[in-house]
Amino acid sequence: MQTKKGKQCFLVISENYSEVEKTAISELSGCLRDAGYGIFLMKESELFKKSVNGDIIVIGRIESSSLVKEILNRNNINISRNIIGDEGYILKSYKNPWNKSKSLIVVSGYTAKSIIYSVFKLIDRVELLKEIPKTLNIITKPHFAVREWETQAFQGGFNLPYGGSVDRPIEEFYEVVKKIIRQAPRYGINAFQLTGRSIEPGMDLNWFLDYKFFPRLHKQFHKWGQGKRERLDILRKIATFGHKYGLEMIMWDHELVYPPEFLNAYPELKGIDAPICFSKPFMMEFIEGKVDEFFEIAPEVDGLNLTLSEVSKGGHLFSKEGCKCDKCMSFEPKDRILTVVNHMNDACKRNGKRLEVRTYNMTPEEGKVAYEAFSRVPEDVLLMTKCTPRDFYCTEDPNNFLIGAFKNAPQMVEYTACPEGNGFAYIPAVLADFYKDRISYAAKKKVAGLVARLDYHLQYSHAHFYNPGPAVLTFDLPNEFNIVAFSNLAWDPNTDMKTLWSEWASKKYGEKASPFVVSALSRTQEICRQTLYIFGFYRPHFLNMFSHLEHLMRAEEDAPHFSPMPWDPSNPKYRELYKKVTQPTEISLGEVLAEKDNAISLCKKSIEDIEKAKKYLSAKDYSKLKYGLDKERDVAEIWKWFLNVFFRHMMMVHNKKDYAKNAVKQNLNDAVQKFVLYCFALEKKYGKEYPVYPTARGISAYDFLEEMYQYHISKMTKEYNSIMKIWLAVMDRSKPTADDDFIYQFKLEVPGDINSIKFDKNNIVVEAKNGETLEMATGLNLSGHELVKGKKYFLKLERKENKINLIPA
Ligand SMILES: [Zn+2]
Repeated sequence: MQTKKGKQCFLVISENYSEVEKTAISELSGCLRDAGYGIFLMKESELFKKSVNGDIIVIGRIESSSLVKEILNRNNINISRNIIGDEGYILKSYKNPWNKSKSLIVVSGYTAKSIIYSVFKLIDRVELLKEIPKTLNIITKPHFAVREWETQAFQGGFNLPYGGSVDRPIEEFYEVVKKIIRQAPRYGINAFQLTGRSIEPGMDLNWFLDYKFFPRLHKQFHKWGQGKRERLDILRKIATFGHKYGLEMIMWDHELVYPPEFLNAYPELKGIDAPICFSKPFMMEFIEGKVDEFFEIAPEVDGLNLTLSEVSKGGHLFSKEGCKCDKCMSFEPKDRILTVVNHMNDACKRNGKRLEVRTYNMTPEEGKVAYEAFSRVPEDVLLMTKCTPRDFYCTEDPNNFLIGAFKNAPQMVEYTACPEGNGFAYIPAVLADFYKDRISYAAKKKVAGLVARLDYHLQYSHAHFYNPGPAVLTFDLPNEFNIVAFSNLAWDPNTDMKTLWSEWASKKYGEKASPFVVSALSRTQEICRQTLYIFGFYRPHFLNMFSHLEHLMRAEEDAPHFSPMPWDPSNPKYRELYKKVTQPTEISLGEVLAEKDNAISLCKKSIEDIEKAKKYLSAKDYSKLKYGLDKERDVAEIWKWFLNVFFRHMMMVHNKKDYAKNAVKQNLNDAVQKFVLYCFALEKKYGKEYPVYPTARGISAYDFLEEMYQYHISKMTKEYNSIMKIWLAVMDRSKPTADDDFIYQFKLEVPGDINSIKFDKNNIVVEAKNGETLEMATGLNLSGHELVKGKKYFLKLERKENKINLIPA
């Protein structure tokens, strides 16, 4: 057997090997074949029967392979289990005794997992060098015992209606998840979470159960059980596949959550002023029954991961909301949580499974409850805590005070590689410095492990995220380096980031392009911080999308969504910044705009880097990188013009008394004009896509302006809808995606408390009874006769070049 280049590699394997090692050998063979090697598999006993004139790779466990033992002894390598533990490994190269120009590589450790990690490290090197490396001298063990990944591929309700945000069939997700699993041993990842979210309604225990232990509920099953067997089949296949790659497979569950028809089946559970009474003993019987049934039908799954937040239907255990009976009223949230955790843990344990529990919560008050509850969970529960106290937001947010706070049970810290809150994979956002910094902190706090969320379900949606074609994974984007950085740091928090960047970029984009690509992408963390946040702490958006005006103006009540200040209220820095944002002045607005300008100029530098790398990049890589960074610059700019509008709106609201006489109103009008024109430009470039339009969260830029004008017009007349109608029709006709064949027209009666409506350049000028006026910016210029009080009109909108004419229909 000769290959084109005549390269030969002999894989020498032990007499007995496990399923995991078999996977490792098969993946290595595939990689070597791709690198042009002819592969010869042989057992240890066969090796000395002939001289072997090629590269030799010996794969075997230290304790069971006499060949490995002999090679290590001969070279005075004595690696005890104390040194590398169960998951550490050896990867060393020597000279082939029969041909000194060829290598003899030892791939070893004490367990099947150590073998697969060592094999994948070798695969990694072969992929980088395009050949079997001549020098390898690695003896390593992981710093953190727990190193997990999670996928949100099953977070949304595919095969179920959910606003079209997830519109791929479940089989496609199965393939996506398998693709991710295959990458895991490359980084020494040892467990994998299948993340669900019952409220969306994604994967959860409910998805799979017949409730056969609860006959009254089981009878209702036909009403919601569609697709259950198909899902169960895929879950079990995924778990089995994960095991082959050395992964423990963990499935998410939310509590309290109950299925439809639950209260019809058990009316006696109804609470006082609430759907259910949490204090009824049946509730815990129900939770344990669910766990028992689940592991009976999905025995391949190794454990559950419990979340107690985001349970829209069911019970939110972090507060006392819900049933008002005496028992419930005296049942403290911390005790409710502990009760649920203990019951679930008991049920998991008797099924030979383990339980992970997320401490995730959204407010400092809930954080206190979390601390009190989770400080008492038993030591076999693995706690999971987000790296920052509020959700995955700004990279400058403080560390979560719950990290390292629990002495009773092990803890892992949760990160996002997608990354949520920093562009959501719409734009490049490589947070390498963030992971380095935060994982060093986690190491200092001596936590047991780390977990990264590799994706978000929206990423897999045709409808909102990407155009038709195969699902795009984080691995397919520059954001892949988030996964690489996180995972390497989980193995060794002291990983040299410069080398890691350079090796990753060389492999993905070529050695010559590498320094330019690294320079371009390493700026994106800072760009996202300056684009999507204000002064590194304030979040003026809803998951990177425009938010309802009402939400933004409720900053005080919803404070934890907007800034980390509620967790550190006396911090003078936060107080000062908070005031600057929520009580804006021309000076603070100037600072905000300068911050966005800075983000734009950083983007431009990164685009220049990519231009310099162009001659070294493939056409496809160049256009993908260029597109991503171009879009990043556009996002920075649209947020600049948006904040210009929003801040001026706040100024107008705060200056009620003199807003009519001063320039505040005119400034708002100019700001909207700029914003609208920029929205049109981006809509022309990207179509009805991000950033002007939202995905499954948030609203469009135009919707925001509509809400804002509605607010101002409603101060002038109760009949604000008749005036909004004009602005909306003009906007619809002006948008670059407007359908020219459609007839845009509207009927209206000018309200009695409005003197007139005029069309002046690019404004609709509304004059109220008291003489006060408001100009509504429209982007394009308008022409049309003045509309007057009390009269009825039926108007048609015609577009000529960049002008809209309003004429009688
Ligand atoms: Zn009750």
